[in-house]
Amino acid sequence: MLHAFAVKAAPLVPVLRLLHEAGLGAEVASPGELALARAAGRPARPHRPRLPAKTPAELRQALALGIAVNADNLQELARLDALVASAPTASPLGIRVNPQVGAGSIGALSTATATSKFGVALRDEGARKTVVAAYLERPWLTRLHTHTGSQGVPLALMAEGVGEAYALAEEINRAAGRQQVDTLDIGGGLPVNFASDEETPTYAEYARLLADTVPGLLDGRYRLVTEFGRSLLAKHGLVLARVEYTKTSGGRPIALTHAGVQLATRTVYAPEAWPLRVLAYDPEGRPRTGEVTVQDVAGPACFAGDLLARGRALPSLRPGDVVAVPDTGAYCFAHHYAYNSLPRPAVHGFTVDRDGAVTFTTVRKAQTLDEIVAEAGGAHADALVR
Ligand SMILES: *Cc1c(COP(=O)(O)O)cnc(C)c1O
Repeated sequence: MLHAFAVKAAPLVPVLRLLHEAGLGAEVASPGELALARAAGRPARPHRPRLPAKTPAELRQALALGIAVNADNLQELARLDALVASAPTASPLGIRVNPQVGAGSIGALSTATATSKFGVALRDEGARKTVVAAYLERPWLTRLHTHTGSQGVPLALMAEGVGEAYALAEEINRAAGRQQVDTLDIGGGLPVNFASDEETPTYAEYARLLADTVPGLLDGRYRLVTEFGRSLLAKHGLVLARVEYTKTSGGRPIALTHAGVQLATRTVYAPEAWPLRVLAYDPEGRPRTGEVTVQDVAGPACFAGDLLARGRALPSLRPGDVVAVPDTGAYCFAHHYAYNSLPRPAVHGFTVDRDGAVTFTTVRKAQTLDEIVAEAGGAHADALVR
């Protein structure tokens, strides 16, 4: 069993190294994520990421590095054909299939719908036969990959998607008369509870459900790969932001903070799908007490919708207070949105030694104004004038 971490959930090199040291692999979907995973590996024990998206040059690099690759579609499989024929590779290779079992509550994160852009759509006419034939023609195809979706997909649907991939592997192996498919990559997607500190559902519940609904999966014939992201890290990060001003508008109290759309982009644009808790602290970091009012917690960006929370009952915030936004350790502050050229904030981590002493450490420095200018074409200031 290989547990890989979906790098897109926390693209920070020190975090990736920590996970690497803990024995996790890396699932990457772009040359940038591959570069991060390689920077996080150590030369003596390099990372072997998995790469699902790719130009011919990226595929060639992946195969040269021995990185596992799942072809997303039959055109990509044809590219792999050419590469496999041209040079030997240690890369384990497979195909990603879309079991088309349906959507969860968040459409944008449901990857197993009838018309999803990911994988070979198994229930389309003739597709299953084509996939089986593709394996029989290519003895080097030894894996099958599926990922039913992320936040919002119920466990039962995730298990159904895995069950479909398992059934297909069994069908291929029967047709091949041998265990050609020896590895099943069952994706990630365990949802996270954003409503409280409780971790639910748990990996154990998911594993029990898989054992009940897809018993053959765990009987030792298949090597399993997982690629969780959000569920591994969401609860391990939080955003802290100072309240700069407070005001009232149309009778609604509003706290103006430094955390908004640049750090919690999904929450600001789709608050129903991505609610986040907001906790109130005084300037010394003690829980803010006092009268509770229904208020908006706003971010710094120049548009009216830049609100971390709308009409939220919280102790009345005051200038200098600190708001904490928990459960933001995945897909949040490391995914900066550059609107208004707001700087990327620093990311701090901590280590705990054997005596329990906590030491804070820099994971990423805050972006400087010079870096913002450079990123905005500062080196080419004259490019459009004569
Ligand atoms: C995003 C993604 C994951 C991780 O999903 P989580 O919901 O963060 O666990 C895993 N596999 C693939 C292919 C993905 O695209």
